[in-house]
Amino acid sequence: MAKFKTKKSLGQNFLENQRIIEQISDLAELDNNTDAIEIGVGSANLTTALAQRSRRVLGFEIDSSLIPILEKKLFNYPNVLITFGDVLKLNFRQEIEEQLKEVESLSLVANIPYYITSPIIHLILESGLKFKNIVLMVQKEVAERLVAKPNTSEYSVLSVYVHEFCEPQIEFIVGKNNFYPVPKVDSAVISLKQFPMTKTLDEIRAEMHLVQLSFANRRKQIKNNLAALTNNPEQQAEITEILTKLFGNSKIRAQELSIEQFQKLLKELKEREI
Ligand code: SAM
Repeated sequence: MAKFKTKKSLGQNFLENQRIIEQISDLAELDNNTDAIEIGVGSANLTTALAQRSRRVLGFEIDSSLIPILEKKLFNYPNVLITFGDVLKLNFRQEIEEQLKEVESLSLVANIPYYITSPIIHLILESGLKFKNIVLMVQKEVAERLVAKPNTSEYSVLSVYVHEFCEPQIEFIVGKNNFYPVPKVDSAVISLKQFPMTKTLDEIRAEMHLVQLSFANRRKQIKNNLAALTNNPEQQAEITEILTKLFGNSKIRAQELSIEQFQKLLKELKEREI
């Protein structure tokens, strides 16, 4: 790695601690029948560990200047395929289906480039792919938001969004000194266990639209944030009435509502065509 100049703009903080690399690979639950998808291959520190445990690895990497390093490092790993390009601009699912034929079981692992954490989580969860396990390294603060429960300061749009698709869990914290170059903040490894999908993406997007509006200003009560839904004062009064009916109180704030309560709220608003 001595000659490679890492690029801060691409979130290149490479994981150097072999013990943590092994722990992440363990969480992916790989075996001879399971393929691994890795987003952000970097210098392939993690990739080689994944390749040793899985049937095949398909990695995505934006930075083609890493090619000489990767050719050397992956020379003895014929089961590793790498697609170079921006994973957010490729057709992610199609690329996986075209590169990996006859998949029996699939896990996803990513030490996420932090500048695109949310878009990558959206990409994975909305891909329609079913993973055995999803193991992500994210900033510690983001991990805390992902697992946050209502009535906490970390509970946010992202917490609700993730729970539409899966149960997230913080597995362990990784101190910043385990990376090269050393980033500003600590990280956490999280696993996401997907739920069976019972809703369409359009239904989830409609729910998330309401959640986003409700959280638009955290200090405001939901009814004030939801005033943006309509200019009609009668309908605004109806929103207050719905909140009282559903939650016994019209003064609640978004951070007090669980995902199930947001779903009930959406149903009522729809029924009344608000
Ligand atoms: N997996 C390696 C590790 O654990 O050491 C590297 C992780 S590093 C935090 C993130 C990697 O994602 C970098 O190699 C970076 O070049 C790559 N990357 C950044 N943006 C990307 C994008 N849009 N598509 C694909 N890869 C990207």
